[in-house]
This record gives sequence, structure tokens and C-alpha cells, in this order.
Amino acid sequence: MSLYPQNSAPSSASIEKQLLRANDIALASMSAGRHPFGATLVAPDHETVLLTQGNIDSVNHAESTLLRAAAARFDASYLWGCTLYTTVEPCAMCTATAYWANVGTIAYGVSEKALLDCTGAHPENPTMDLPCRDVVSRGQKPISVYGPIDAVQETLLAPHTQFWRAS
Ligand SMILES: [Zn+2]
Repeated sequence: MSLYPQNSAPSSASIEKQLLRANDIALASMSAGRHPFGATLVAPDHETVLLTQGNIDSVNHAESTLLRAAAARFDASYLWGCTLYTTVEPCAMCTATAYWANVGTIAYGVSEKALLDCTGAHPENPTMDLPCRDVVSRGQKPISVYGPIDAVQETLLAPHTQFWRAS
């Protein structure tokens, strides 16, 4: 059996639903005084949320923190069938953590470029411009990437247009 079997694709409806769940985590994170980013890990059934994580700080992003917890808790072969949902396209650090944690699918709502338009050179979040597909393409694993997702764009961007202007 292949180390990286083909995973079933999530439907558009389930991607949208899971991204809105991740956005609830982002909003809770913002209410707690942290950056408005949220991530979840969803099981191979595309429905069960296994882990959730909001932003902690500039080096403990929602996604990489969640992925380290996932790698400690689940087998790599199981994680290959799971999906990382994240409100905003994962940065190079977080995409690489997904790679090393062996999560086979990444789905994000808002592109890194759209976030960059919101944050600019904000000292707390000088957003990189390195698409996650570029990071994935340099690896040896056929990780599937979905995003940006137009249907939830406005909802997921709202906390960022608010947050980065105010701070
Ligand atoms: Zn990150």
C-alpha cells in the first residue's frame, strides 16, 4: 500500500461548513486579545472535528500549534486522511508543520495575499508572501490544498479588516 494513498475529496458544502467552524475559533481568539486566526483538524469522515486551536502569538500560530498536538496524539497514517482547516492560508512554518505531521489535506478560506492587504507590515504580523502550494510543491508528499473559498471569503476576512486597522 502506498504511504500516501489518495484521500477522498471534501465536498464544497463541507469545506464551507468547516471553515465557518474554524472562524468561530478565530473570533474567540480575537475576543481573548489574540490574533483572529482559527484552525481545526477534521477526521477522514469530513465531519468530526478532532482538535481546535486559535492563535497564541507570533511564533505559536493556530495551525502549527494544532498540528504539533495532532502529531503527539494520532498516528501519522491516520493523520494522512485528516484535513487541516484554517481561516487564512497557512504560512510557510505552518504548511511545513502540516507536511511533517503528515496531514494529507489543507483547506483555507482566505489567501495569504488578501491577509497581507489587511496587515501590511504590521509589526505583530508582517505577513509573508509565500503561497502554501509553493511550500507543498517542494516536498515529497502529495498533499491536497483547497482555497481560497469564495463563498466564505467576506465572513472570514471581516475580523481581519477590523483587527489590523484597530491595532
Ligand atoms: Zn503560520
